[in-house]
Amino acid sequence: METFVVVGGDAAGMSAASKAKRDDPEMEVVVFEKGQWVSYGACGLPYYIKGEIQSLEELVSITPEEFREERDIDLRTGHEVVDIDPDERTVTAESEDETVEQPYDHLLIATGAEPVLPPIDGLDLEGVYTLGSMSDGKELREYVSRARSEENLDQPDSGPACQFLEQCTGPVGVVGGGYIGVEMAEALTANGFEVHLFQRGDRILKGFSEATSDSVCAHLEAQDVAVYLGESVIEIEGDERATAVRTEGQRVPVEMALVGTGVRPRTDLAEDAGIELGETGAIAADAYRETNAPDVYAAGDCAEVEHVVTGEPAYVPLALTANRHGRAVGQTVTGTPSVGGAVAGTAAVKAFDIEAARTGLLNAEEAREAGFEPVTETIEAKSRAGYYPEGGTVEVTLTADRETGRVLGGSLTSEYGEGAVHRSHALVGAVTEGVAVAELANYDLAYAPPFNTTWDPVLTAAKVLEGKVNDS
Ligand code: FAD
Repeated sequence: METFVVVGGDAAGMSAASKAKRDDPEMEVVVFEKGQWVSYGACGLPYYIKGEIQSLEELVSITPEEFREERDIDLRTGHEVVDIDPDERTVTAESEDETVEQPYDHLLIATGAEPVLPPIDGLDLEGVYTLGSMSDGKELREYVSRARSEENLDQPDSGPACQFLEQCTGPVGVVGGGYIGVEMAEALTANGFEVHLFQRGDRILKGFSEATSDSVCAHLEAQDVAVYLGESVIEIEGDERATAVRTEGQRVPVEMALVGTGVRPRTDLAEDAGIELGETGAIAADAYRETNAPDVYAAGDCAEVEHVVTGEPAYVPLALTANRHGRAVGQTVTGTPSVGGAVAGTAAVKAFDIEAARTGLLNAEEAREAGFEPVTETIEAKSRAGYYPEGGTVEVTLTADRETGRVLGGSLTSEYGEGAVHRSHALVGAVTEGVAVAELANYDLAYAPPFNTTWDPVLTAAKVLEGKVNDS
């Protein structure tokens, strides 16, 4: 009987463990997870903090007991793997009570990512938070509940806290304008906080198009979030508790600060074992997710992946990739070699009443480095037939290569529920298949008045960009 050992019990790790056990029930599958939570949806944490989701348990898709009893997986929570020995094919794990040396035939490293903190003073003050784990989420929710009850807004956890209260508590700072910063700006505003969002660069959501960033930023401001662009935070002030966020030009009093300035792959364990990292700083792996150490795989936020457009290694730490690549490893180790596939960097975000999505290669400099000559166009179009009630506007940015017309990437925004995110799926297809913008303009997309106009905004954008590519 072969043994498959997994380090890390979330998206990548549990997908791999479950798939391996399903495909080969005889295989011994051992998962070490250093925390107590497994198979949780960190993506839901902003909505838990906001109050739309009432308990952390709701974010768990399969409980430890179900993994153990129903799936026959030897899941050891509270066990941190501290060493991998690829020559001896063993891992060493420590818990409060024991140190275990576990042999493996196949090993998956699925250790995820950790928050990157800026090199500034004040991060250890009380009232400074990050949001990378379930326990971070719990602490933040407790902070929000406490602040609300001190203001007599309502009892903590009594009903949805997301009724967009009049500003009544705070002020609070959000450091970082990535998707977590944006989602948390909404979650905190919904709970009555006065929110100040600081972004080092000149726009938020820098992975999206400029047009999308500008639209989301304008919407945040319309919701009374104070957005500070081009403001690098140099200190969080305070004696014991955070009292202000300081940038070169501003000093903004706050009662709490959430630092969401990106993540980096958690690679120490792999590095110590002589497993190679790639140029992105994440664990290098081939298409089957196998590292330079035989039968040692890496998947999810700790590993780099191939980009569908450039064919180069990329670091895109998102949930679907972790699930997909974990599942592929589970299949591979049970005798069906499977590739998890490349990524297009597709991502979505909701901010108050607006939604946005992006896919592919949008940054002109990165596109040029990859050998393309990017041409970009942004259009606005109605989300539904003009005569159909309600509806809104979809803004689409498309980028294509001047010489070949190949669609390189796209970014969309619309009012929440008006389809920016679902429309992005057509672009993901075009980007992944490498089709020319003229072909995209002829995609046979569905049409009915409640959903779009006869020419969906994606088709209109492609038509307009096709003209621009042909003229240039
Ligand atoms: P992780 O989920 O990080 O799991 C790694 C696990 O390994 C952890 O449980 C950790 O405790 C364990 N571990 C680490 N080292 C050891 C060790 N030495 N021994 C034992 N165990 C160890 N992605 C999206 O696609 N869409 C979203 O909307 C989205 N929103 C997000 C919102 C938030 C607030 C956060 C934090 C993330 C969000 N993500 C989102 C990212 C998504 O959660 C991750 O891409 C996904 O969880 C990665 O799964 P993973 O299994 O690779 O790593």
